[in-house]
Amino acid sequence: MLLRSLSAAALATLLAACSSSPAGPPEPVAPVITVSGVSAGGTYDAPVTVAISVDRGAYTATLNGAAFAAGGTISQPGAYELLVTARNGTATAETRIPFTVRFTGARVLIVRLFDLGDNEAGGGGDAILITDSTAIGMRHGLIDAGPQGMNASNPGYVAQRLQGLGVTRLDFVQLSHAHADHYAGLVPVLNAIPVHWFVYNGQQRANIGGYQTVLSTARSRADTVVVPTVVTELPFGYQADVAKVVPPLPTYLANSSASGDQLNEGSLGTSLRRGTFSMFFAGDGEVEANLRWRTSFAELTSGVTALKVGHHGANNAVFDNGFNGSSAWLAHTAPRVAVISANGRSHPRINALNALLGRPTTQTYCTSVHGDIAIRVLDSGQYVVTVQRNATMDCRPGTEATT
Ligand SMILES: [Zn+2]
Repeated sequence: MLLRSLSAAALATLLAACSSSPAGPPEPVAPVITVSGVSAGGTYDAPVTVAISVDRGAYTATLNGAAFAAGGTISQPGAYELLVTARNGTATAETRIPFTVRFTGARVLIVRLFDLGDNEAGGGGDAILITDSTAIGMRHGLIDAGPQGMNASNPGYVAQRLQGLGVTRLDFVQLSHAHADHYAGLVPVLNAIPVHWFVYNGQQRANIGGYQTVLSTARSRADTVVVPTVVTELPFGYQADVAKVVPPLPTYLANSSASGDQLNEGSLGTSLRRGTFSMFFAGDGEVEANLRWRTSFAELTSGVTALKVGHHGANNAVFDNGFNGSSAWLAHTAPRVAVISANGRSHPRINALNALLGRPTTQTYCTSVHGDIAIRVLDSGQYVVTVQRNATMDCRPGTEATT
């Protein structure tokens, strides 16, 4: 009917139009962006995890201008803007979500001992992160960064852990002494994270390349390099008088042929306080260091809440004679909590651990049994210890320890 009513010319025009305009590809449809975990204008009183999806095409996301991967958790308090740009062919879409993360809960001081695994050398190494977490943000300090794993195979481990915890700046990095199980992870840390103060004990060891690389990297990367000669307050946290470093025993510092024990005796000690809580970190200090800390720096070391036991729980870090028997150091420090970084192989030693386990007022934790150990401290000084595994198990001596 229709065709019959058209003129021949109109029919020709219609047919030409049909044949010259085949159906083209459909216009691309703009993607729909879905973001969960945060919404525009939202304020969050805890870390947030952000999920992003699009119904078609692909997207990229930035957080305050830096690339952001979906599934990422934002744990640092602050003001943020998430920008998601999606594209499907030539069609695009964009979502902009400003939000705020804040911590309104109690301020918490956190001490974390990282489990560095089954290091054969040096008893297991140390790596201790101290965090002051408040409504304003988190601030961090690091004591030592040993390598992780058998044969110290993973020097980048501590840097990775710090980045995983959202550490973007370190108020201080302190190297207790010039042994690789304490410094071999420091270059990756210094290269990855801005550091304000680098603090070390001044040990020379001019012929040890790895150590010299740590010092040269610190000089180029840290704002300030400090060798303390008096008790020095560390730049850390939001509360004055929270962290102090004790100058080292000077006896062996400049001796390039100093033995391992002599290097240990030059360990920096660190005091941390919050409310009624106090903690002393003894590096790898042995008999001479303990005696000096006990007699010359008693106000920082007596009756502490927590003690980072020296030298991976070695006998020479506990006993007056370095082997067994009496321990003026444990009687003086009288810790409620003792924490040991150890490989579970050579350390902790049997006698030292028995002395700690024999104290009814001391709870002892070892990275070799308990994995990562964290102490969380409120402003009041109330604290709680959490461990990664085996919470109900006692510390055990190293499997190859004989004394
Ligand atoms: Zn050590």
